[in-house]
Amino acid sequence: MIDVLNPANGQTVGQAPAMSVSEVNAAIDRTCAAFPAWSRQLAKARSDLLRRWFERIRDDKAAFAELIVKENGKCLSEAYAEVDYGLGFIEWYAEEAKRVYGDTIPSHAADSAITVVKEPVGPTAAITPWNFPFMMITRKIATALAAGCTMIIKPAEETPLTAYKLLEAAREVGIPEGVFEMVTGDPKAIGARFTSDTRIRKLSFTGSTAVGRLLASASGQTLTRMTLELGGNAPFIVFDDADLEAALEGAVGAKLRNSGQVCISPNRFYVHDAIHDRFIEALAERVSRVEVGDGMRDDFVVGPMINRAGFDKVASLVDEARAHGARIVLGGQAHAAGGLFYEPTIVSGLDDDAEMARTEIFGPVFAVYRFDTEDEVIARANATEYGLVAYAYTRDLGRSLRLSRALEAGMVILNSGSVGTASVPFGGIKQSGYGREGSYYGIEEYVDVKYVLMSGLGR
Ligand code: NAP
Repeated sequence: MIDVLNPANGQTVGQAPAMSVSEVNAAIDRTCAAFPAWSRQLAKARSDLLRRWFERIRDDKAAFAELIVKENGKCLSEAYAEVDYGLGFIEWYAEEAKRVYGDTIPSHAADSAITVVKEPVGPTAAITPWNFPFMMITRKIATALAAGCTMIIKPAEETPLTAYKLLEAAREVGIPEGVFEMVTGDPKAIGARFTSDTRIRKLSFTGSTAVGRLLASASGQTLTRMTLELGGNAPFIVFDDADLEAALEGAVGAKLRNSGQVCISPNRFYVHDAIHDRFIEALAERVSRVEVGDGMRDDFVVGPMINRAGFDKVASLVDEARAHGARIVLGGQAHAAGGLFYEPTIVSGLDDDAEMARTEIFGPVFAVYRFDTEDEVIARANATEYGLVAYAYTRDLGRSLRLSRALEAGMVILNSGSVGTASVPFGGIKQSGYGREGSYYGIEEYVDVKYVLMSGLGR
C-alpha cells in the first residue's frame, strides 16, 4: 500500500494500493474491453451519465473539499473552488457529448457525396499531478467519456484518495467498470505500460516537462497520441499605466493560490521602472497580512509545500538569489509553523541570470524584476523555454493587442490573474507541451476525423 500523508502535519490520511503489474494489466484490459460498447452508446446516454456524476459530486462537495485539504494541503476555500472548477468540466462535457458534429464537403464529382465524421480515438490513459487532485482528473476523463472513449487514470501518489473517491462516485451513478479505471503504484512501470500498449490510443499527461519528455519519447514507438500539459515559467508584467490595485490583487491571488504550486503561477514579475518601488512596497504590505497554516479552516491561508523535495527546492532557489545579491523584501525562510511551511516571500533586485528566473519556483515566492520599455519586457518575457501562460496589466488598448500577439504562450491573460474555466482552451506551447483541455477544442483531442466518400450515386 501507498501511505498518503497530510503535508500540513505529516499524519497519515489513508492508503492507496500499490498495484502489481498483473493488476495494472487487468485494468488496462478492462479499459480496452469496455470501449466498443461505450463508444456505441447514444451520445445522450453518455451525457446523462456524466450529468448524474456531476450531481452526485455536487451533493457531496464538502467531503471532497475536506479530503483535498488533507492530502494536498491547500486551504478549504481553495479546495471548494477546485471542486467547483473541476465540476465545471463534467457539466460542460456532459453537454458537449451531444455536440460532436461532423461536416459535409461539396464533392469534386457529380455522383458522389463527401462527409466527415468524428469518431472516438479508442481506449485512452491519463497521468495526473498532485496540485489539483480533483480537477486534473475530471478535466481529462469528462472529455474522454463525452467523446466516447474509455479512460484509465494514474493519479499522483501524494493525492490518490480524491481520485478514488471520484471513481467511487462514478460507480455509484452507473459509470461502468472499464469505462473509467484507476491504477496506482510504480509510476515508471505504469507509464511504460500505457505507452507500449498499442490498444491505448491516446495518453493525456499533466506534470513536469522532464516526465512529459520521457512519455512522449516512449509514445513515439507506438505512435500514441498525446496531450502534454507541462511546466511553466509565467511572466506577469505590470506597466506604468496599469490599474495598480487590480495588478496587486491579481498578483497575490495568482501567486499564493495553492501556495504557488501551480503550473500557471506567475514566476517572474516584471514591473515598470516608474512604479517598481511603489509596487513592491504595496505588495509587501498585502503579503505580510496573509496567514500561513493548516488549511482546514474558513479563511484563506497559505498551506505547506507538498513534500520535502518541494520545500527544499523553494528554499534553495531563495538562498541562491540571496547569495547573488538579491534583496529579500519579505520572508525568505522556513515558516515558524515548521514542517513543510515556507514563508510567503518577496525577492527583488534580481537579474535574468538568477536561477529562479529560469526555473519553475513552485512555491510562495514573488520574484520581482525591473523593466523599462515594452520591447525589452516582451523579449525578456519570451526568453524562456516554456510557454504556458503570460499575464500583463496595462490600460492601453493598442498595447494589449500588441502583447497578445507578441507573448509566446498558449494563454495570454490581460488585466486579470485568473485563467481557468471549463469553457476555454487550456494549454501551452514550446516546452510547456501541446494539446488543449477544456472548451470545444478539448474534445478534438479525443476524436479521429474520418472522411467518407460515397460515390456511384447516379447523377
Ligand atoms: P511529475 O513528477 O511529472 O508527476 C506527475 C505525474 O507523473 C504523477 O502522477 C507521477 O507519479 C507521474 N510520474 C512520475 N514519474 C513518471 C514516469 N517516469 N513515468 C510515468 N509517470 C511518472 O510532476 P509533479 O511534480 O507531480 O507536478 C508538478 C509539475 O506539473 C510542474 O512542473 C507543473 O508545472 C506541472 N503541471 C502542469 C500543468 C499544466 O496544465 N500545464 C498543471 C499542473 C501541473 P507519482 O506521483 O506516483 O510519482
